[in-house]
Amino acid sequence: MNNGVQKYVEKARKALGERSRYIRDEVKKWRFDTIAVHGAYSVKEAIDNNQGSIIEPIYMSTSQAFRDSDEMEAALAYLIPSWTYSRIHNPSIGYLEDTLALLEGYGYDGETTCCVVSSGMAAVASACDPFLAKRSNQPDEKINFVANAQIYGGTFQQFNVRKMKERGIECRWVVDPLNIDEWSSKIDSNTRFLFGELPSNPGLAFFDIAKVIDLAHENGIPAIFDTTIATPALLRPISLGADIVIHSVTKTLTASGFGIAGAVIARKQIVSNIDNDDLKKDFGTYIKLLPNRDMGWCLSPFQAILTLNDIRTLRSKVDVLSQNSMKVAQYLDGHKKVASVNYLGLANHPLHSIASKYLWLVDAEHDEQYGKAVNRYGHLMSFQLKGGLPAARKFFDGLKRIWRATDLGRIQSVATIPSISTHQQMGGDLRDMANIPEDLIRLCIGAEHPDDMIADLEQALESI
Ligand SMILES: *Cc1c(COP(=O)(O)O)cnc(C)c1O
Repeated sequence: MNNGVQKYVEKARKALGERSRYIRDEVKKWRFDTIAVHGAYSVKEAIDNNQGSIIEPIYMSTSQAFRDSDEMEAALAYLIPSWTYSRIHNPSIGYLEDTLALLEGYGYDGETTCCVVSSGMAAVASACDPFLAKRSNQPDEKINFVANAQIYGGTFQQFNVRKMKERGIECRWVVDPLNIDEWSSKIDSNTRFLFGELPSNPGLAFFDIAKVIDLAHENGIPAIFDTTIATPALLRPISLGADIVIHSVTKTLTASGFGIAGAVIARKQIVSNIDNDDLKKDFGTYIKLLPNRDMGWCLSPFQAILTLNDIRTLRSKVDVLSQNSMKVAQYLDGHKKVASVNYLGLANHPLHSIASKYLWLVDAEHDEQYGKAVNRYGHLMSFQLKGGLPAARKFFDGLKRIWRATDLGRIQSVATIPSISTHQQMGGDLRDMANIPEDLIRLCIGAEHPDDMIADLEQALESI
């Protein structure tokens, strides 16, 4: 390293030290809402780097210019904080990553890092694929991983077709994820990780996450969770010991529905049985600087700031959406044309007690309104009507205000029929395994007045 490069590295070391002190001594001490509003975006950052802009600027620029060749060399060797090229990094992306890392790491003492990507599916791939490399001394090993069978249709296809059929990497499905012995029976020395989605979309599967984390760690492998449906306002697996969390940021985190995004958040020093020290030390930064740079599934800086703006009100939004959903679920549960309602908040739901162990509105105990811990169950539910698929389609077509769309997590209410949309390509047998009946209607309630949504459901139910 020449003297010029060395000077840049020393300057960066000082700036990085100040930044981590700011995060450790100030930001990590704030409540969830303050972190959601400000993230790590400081007065100093605004004044020094952004002309005092109080809102994080959208850096619509492909690349960063350097003062001289020494600074360029230091940046491209990842020796100084820099963004170089927007496929690798970008300041606007960094603001979103800081906020998500801090929110997902809320209640956890250690450090967390985040890498945002272009979609939830890219998040699943970038969290899983680095573990699916062959170990250097074992060219013939048959790699596998274990996942609960009740997962989002796109994730199912990525595991079942892209990884299993096309690459020969075995995904071992756990059909009853509440049964820890079933998870355990699927693990061997070639298992690379446990993957769990909870609550699952659309079936709302739930299980004892702490037991799955313990089992993973007893076997020297990481526990990866997709908690898109809960959001960090209700569940933060890393604070329970998990290694990696993935999100379809498209959903409740970007409730306004402006666009598609994904995120991977990891704690430092994850557990893994593969021989890659950089990967274990700081997984979020590792995937960002290396595999994701090479795969190219980066997010647009424009989308990053739209999403960041949505996240500022996450906790209060999830509270309102959950309460509206509870009211609608209770209405459906009492309706004579409804055969069954699947909402984790209903006391008669078989998974209500295990869900209540884990789904808590963050900081409710510090809230003027509540002053104590409060369970909330999110805004996803599903239900079946008496009369099967024909009745379901007729009801669906009768909705006037609730959108018919393959979407969820919105500030607006949206309904879909998974067997003819999101989970169509799985086919009937696999849908049975994942517990998705053909006449299941998925409903995600927004922030409208719940009585108006109940009125829309009522008139559609009257039409069948
Ligand atoms: C939607 C969804 C995904 C995929 O995310 P995209 O942003 O649509 O790519 C993954 N997991 C869950 C639970 C989802 O709901």
